[in-house]
Amino acid sequence: AHLDQITAVDTDLHAFLYVAADAALATAARIDARRAAGEELGPLAGVPIAIKDVLTTLDMPTTAGSKILEGWVPPYDATVVRRLRAADLIPLGKTNMDEFAMGSSTEHSAYGVTRNPWDRDRIPGGSGGGSAAAVASFQAPLALGSDTGGSIRQPAAVTGSVGVKPTYGAVSRYGAIALASSLDQVGPVSRTVFDAALLHDVIGGHDPLDSTSLTDAWPSMAAAATAGLKDGALKGVRVGVIKELSGSGFQAGVTQRFTETLALLTAAGAEITEVSAPNFEYAVAAYYLILPAEASSNLARFDSVRFGIRVDPAEGSLTSEHVMAATREAGFGPEVKRRIILGTYALSTGYYDAYYGSAQKVRTLIQRDFAAAFDQVDILVSPSAPTTAFKFGEKLEDPMAMYLNDITTIPANLAGVPGMSIPIGLAPEDGLPVGLQIMAPARADARLYTYGAAIE
Ligand code: GLN
Repeated sequence: AHLDQITAVDTDLHAFLYVAADAALATAARIDARRAAGEELGPLAGVPIAIKDVLTTLDMPTTAGSKILEGWVPPYDATVVRRLRAADLIPLGKTNMDEFAMGSSTEHSAYGVTRNPWDRDRIPGGSGGGSAAAVASFQAPLALGSDTGGSIRQPAAVTGSVGVKPTYGAVSRYGAIALASSLDQVGPVSRTVFDAALLHDVIGGHDPLDSTSLTDAWPSMAAAATAGLKDGALKGVRVGVIKELSGSGFQAGVTQRFTETLALLTAAGAEITEVSAPNFEYAVAAYYLILPAEASSNLARFDSVRFGIRVDPAEGSLTSEHVMAATREAGFGPEVKRRIILGTYALSTGYYDAYYGSAQKVRTLIQRDFAAAFDQVDILVSPSAPTTAFKFGEKLEDPMAMYLNDITTIPANLAGVPGMSIPIGLAPEDGLPVGLQIMAPARADARLYTYGAAIE
């Protein structure tokens, strides 16, 4: 049924870069046969799933939305993909994304845009617009995303889906093509909080192949979500509204739905307080130094030899340096080049302390803002994004405008804390989905699922 839906709608939406129809049907048949033989099946046996093309897959190409990786079939599965297969989920294919996960609209994909199922003239968010659009248009009940500065939560918000960025280290990054290693987290996209929890339980937990993977014994997120469905689950919960992430700069309908949600929370017995996070003001600036710095280093591996395409220079000698330059010139898009230049500049001698060093200090201050806030409240809330889905082209020529769209989601990545976006209705002025972001202290992912399910 999901493959039929892909055939019916994806020519138009373009959520998928690659559809593994035959492999999916073969996997489904194998699962059926095992079920018929009375074998014990994995916890999500037979559930189809879409996979963001930033995750390596043995049997499907992986491009990360870039020309430089065109035609590359990885020699290994990402840990999360391996866990999907072990749990008997059925991979349907790979989803579109901004090149190397740089962007908030999926317009930076080298393979064309993905359309928002709610309004085809609008962006599905980014960088994981393909995963969110696939879920929102019923092409897949679940998807995997990656979130470095909002790429799971913001696409979820603007497509009316649920998206979760787990605690840094809660889900393995092995096989997730690195954007900024200290910020990247893999996580679920779904239509309900409970579905996200089920997927989180499959992909989460320690992985010796990721040196930053936490060794915690995690509680069941599905059980946490179920706890949120009990009457009175929100009674006495201390909810902090971040002053710096509300009010001016937000679309009127976003603020309206957010305010209504706060009223519902109060009616359900939650205690709402305003908390201040004074350094969030500098989060976007710090992020757009730290991210390009790490990205410029991570992307150095695309050298025309080890991965993807090779382009020889039109003239001159075929030294490795010339071939590498010609390949990177042809293979990387404009946003990737912009960030490599920014990153190498910020890391260069004489500028390192002024830019990268300062940004790292801001990061520490933001972590302290979170710590102070979580001394007072159990969860923090804000709108997931300042606006609903914007139109194609609206921010494409203005990188600063695109970057500023990430104001709500970036702080959680800088601090490593978990964040979730859940739908809270449509903005009256444009009829488009609005998301509520919920954040919890590091390692308290279960809290997101409990209160997310309760609010949903
Ligand atoms: N929009 C942000 C950026 O462009 C977030 C990207 C992400 O989370 N991968 O960097």
